[in-house]
Amino acid sequence: MEFNNSANSILKWYDGHKKKFGWRETKDPYKILISEILLHKTDSKKVEKLYPKFIEKFPTVYYLYQAESEEIDNLIKDIGLFYRGQRLKRIAEQIVNEFNGNIPACKEDIMSLYGVGEYISNAVLCFAFKKRMPIVDTNVIRVYERAFNVKSLKSRPRTDKEIWDFAEKMLPKENYVEYNYALLDFASDICRAKNPLCEICPIKSICVCWKEG
Ligand code: SF4
Repeated sequence: MEFNNSANSILKWYDGHKKKFGWRETKDPYKILISEILLHKTDSKKVEKLYPKFIEKFPTVYYLYQAESEEIDNLIKDIGLFYRGQRLKRIAEQIVNEFNGNIPACKEDIMSLYGVGEYISNAVLCFAFKKRMPIVDTNVIRVYERAFNVKSLKSRPRTDKEIWDFAEKMLPKENYVEYNYALLDFASDICRAKNPLCEICPIKSICVCWKEG
């Protein structure tokens, strides 16, 4: 019951606070996949500036496929992670060679793309193909840990099946695309890593951390 209440409260909060990002305005699976690769371990503010330039230069997977590695590296160098250029290039090659230029819409296929793990695959399946998939990253784990006392004993909680199972339980049966976006914004704006805004938090009445003071 508390799960439903908290999901509804986060969705209600999101209604008045949703962030506008270019990758949330498109339905093109290629552009959504690119955004997720750029967002990996990277501040969305940096990606926000780069994303339109990237899409302008490589508007489809075929442009990326034909690009020289140096062109890609030069364009994305300001957002860090030196291996990302190679990842983008190899993914484009796989999509063209193995999937006829189409972004795969099933979990097994999308997970076969170079460097794509649980988070990126679920994010693309949810945001691009509207499939009901939970997402778990460091920020989402922080929210679940604080609000519901869900703790991972694994050294890499992002890979902990129990956390993924909990995230699946939390995911509403409807409005799950909005909920996943809402959760990301809520984690970055309210349940922040440092100085969370508990006083104005829409789920403080059920939050374990808040109740324990
Ligand atoms: S009350 Fe504070 S710790 Fe709890 S979910 Fe809200 S912002 Fe996070």
